[in-house]
Amino acid sequence: MATSGAVLLRTYLRTRSFDARVRTPAGVARWQERRARRFLPGVVAASPFYRDHLAGCGVDDWRSWPIVDKGMLMAAFDRWTTCGLRLADALAVADGAERSRDFAPLLGDVAVGLSSGTSGRRGVFVAGARERAAWAGAVLARTLPGSILARHRVAFFLRANSRLYEAVGSRRLRFRFFDLCEPFESHLSPLATLDPTVLVGPPSLLAALADEAAGGRLRIGPRKVISVAETLEPPDEARIRAAFGAPVHQVYQATEGFLAATCGRGTLHVNEDIVAIEPEWLDGAGIDVAGGRGGAAMVMHAGDDRPRTHFTPIVTDLHRTTQPVIRYRLDDVLVAAPHACPCGSPRRALAAVDGRRDDVFIGEGAVGRVPVFADALRRAFVVAAPEAIGWRAVQTAAGRIELAIEPLGAGGRAAEGLRAAFIDAGARPPDVEVGPLGPERPGPDKRRRLVRAWSVDAA
Ligand SMILES: [Zn+2]
Repeated sequence: MATSGAVLLRTYLRTRSFDARVRTPAGVARWQERRARRFLPGVVAASPFYRDHLAGCGVDDWRSWPIVDKGMLMAAFDRWTTCGLRLADALAVADGAERSRDFAPLLGDVAVGLSSGTSGRRGVFVAGARERAAWAGAVLARTLPGSILARHRVAFFLRANSRLYEAVGSRRLRFRFFDLCEPFESHLSPLATLDPTVLVGPPSLLAALADEAAGGRLRIGPRKVISVAETLEPPDEARIRAAFGAPVHQVYQATEGFLAATCGRGTLHVNEDIVAIEPEWLDGAGIDVAGGRGGAAMVMHAGDDRPRTHFTPIVTDLHRTTQPVIRYRLDDVLVAAPHACPCGSPRRALAAVDGRRDDVFIGEGAVGRVPVFADALRRAFVVAAPEAIGWRAVQTAAGRIELAIEPLGAGGRAAEGLRAAFIDAGARPPDVEVGPLGPERPGPDKRRRLVRAWSVDAA
């Protein structure tokens, strides 16, 4: 069996050369078709859950196999993995690691990660040693500037360390983990000492570091800054880019898989050599946008012929073997890119990772409920109130938004922008109550700037 280092390097090289080998979107589709037919039957047969779930389904139709989601995963976890792992044992390891901040424990050679989500809806994901090495090789291939042979010092800010991340590390590559649960100030001195060439973290943390650098209290010179785990908002992006003089790249990564990363032109491309993504479109007539919370809430969209742009991804991982991820619906909303990317990558381009499905705002339209997506709401700030540097908008009912904003003087124009976004979407404009935004410090919780705090079911 190949060592982890060999797997890492082989995956790195294969990932780096993928675009040049397949060249066109049709080539990507053909590659995925071949890969799926060779790979899926084995993992389906090895997972008791999928064996039953897909009984009678032929691999020729794999793109229309029945969809699974986090609720099904957690309910059937004991029968899901190919190594017979039980949920209680996986949770015991993950919770123990979170409490002790000691991320060494494994179950055999299997590492356990928890996916974030609203409380009570977290998912458990596990990966074997070989999968972790392959993951690391792919992440390095899609994120590191220059050659893998160059020396890099990577500072990685994360809520929880994991054996997933510790798979990366060698003499050329120094990889230091910073725990977001520790106080922000405690990171500044060790970060300056490391002086990372690559800085990775959620944008709320990166923006706070940018403020320290702009104020002369932190001297580091990263060549590349990578935003992970939260939506990258335009004002944060501008602050980070200005402070470090480096472009801000994005990685769309979840415990569910390494899903997308930005190219040299700054466009997010799906890692279609790792996962196949089928869009479940959210715009158009009769779309259930609110299904992420509490089940089958129905949202109607007045029939219109605007192009479909927003979708939830159905993910099929074409490499994972310990815990198969096949036709798995994520909770996220993605926005398709309107044009092909000039970088020439044949892989699907995204305009944005727009946030969570259950945070999509919902307005009252003439004939029913209407989704108002985060990218439209975000324009309310970027275009109507460009001086806004921070905000939090909470939709508390179909016709009501509570907006906290800094500076407060931008609140009136931002509120008008939010109302305009509702009108553009075909909904009645909401009442917007404006107040000041309290001090923001990065912490372990994910920052959400646009939050829907009411359930369509309950309304
Ligand atoms: Zn590109």
